[in-house]
Amino acid sequence: MATIATHGTGKIGPNAIIQTVAALQELFGNEGARAVLVRGGAGDLPDHLPHALIDEREFHALVELLIEQIGEERAKQVMARSGQLTAEYVFANRIPAFVRVLLRLLPPRLGLRLLLPAMQRHTWTFAGSGVFAYDLMPTPSLSIANGSLFDTPAMAAAMCAYYRGAFEQMFRKLICPRATLHELECQARGDRRCRYAIQCA
Ligand SMILES: [Zn+2]
Repeated sequence: MATIATHGTGKIGPNAIIQTVAALQELFGNEGARAVLVRGGAGDLPDHLPHALIDEREFHALVELLIEQIGEERAKQVMARSGQLTAEYVFANRIPAFVRVLLRLLPPRLGLRLLLPAMQRHTWTFAGSGVFAYDLMPTPSLSIANGSLFDTPAMAAAMCAYYRGAFEQMFRKLICPRATLHELECQARGDRRCRYAIQCA
């Protein structure tokens, strides 16, 4: 990719955990979600959600807990929803109203030209030390590379679902209502990054 990559610090915003618990509650109900967390040894988490920056490994430990307790496929569902909820939060709380209006008025390609550099600066808030990069030509695409951070393909797949859910929802809110990400490379398959083409279907 042509773009210079930026390294995060390994710290992320508390939203990654907050929205993952919210997604678990949405899909399993409050009781069901608590039962899953209790079995994984984190039963008090819904009552003690973080408020400040956290070490990304705390978030990854929660994702690993979900894979162990509910299996890879349902963990991926939870993480995809968590990514969407994270994007909804960022959209509602972190993006100025005039930017939201402006991006939706612009043609998609021009909107991406403005949005992708901004995303590169802010992706650390949920992707931590993951390296974000993008291309505008010939087809707009973005990627995230986590090095050797994820121990198993199941963990890489769950995190891929999270990133994808977040990016896709952000593009749907800001670029085109039916935006989809088409997977080009995936760390869960042994590629060195997850890379997605951005399509306005
Ligand atoms: Zn992937």
